[in-house]
Amino acid sequence: MRGTLTAAGIILAALVWYAGSCIIRPFRDCWLCDGKGHHRSKRKSKLSRPCRWCRASGKRLRFGRRLWNRARRVHRDAAAGARIAR
Ligand SMILES: [Zn+2]
Repeated sequence: MRGTLTAAGIILAALVWYAGSCIIRPFRDCWLCDGKGHHRSKRKSKLSRPCRWCRASGKRLRFGRRLWNRARRVHRDAAAGARIAR
């Protein structure tokens, strides 16, 4: 029982920490181009091309932040829908 509580506490702490880091730094460097916005194609190594993964911005929205944005959008749409229905 005590072990379960400790594990739950650790998971909760990790979630809070992750949420906080998503708020403080919503973007992180793209894993494909290392934040440069372009990367070298493997076959022609001298050519660098705009990164498709981050759309050449070099930054990716973090997974937690994307979830948060989606949740907010759903919430907002629901609120707007409720207003229309009334
Ligand atoms: Zn990229």
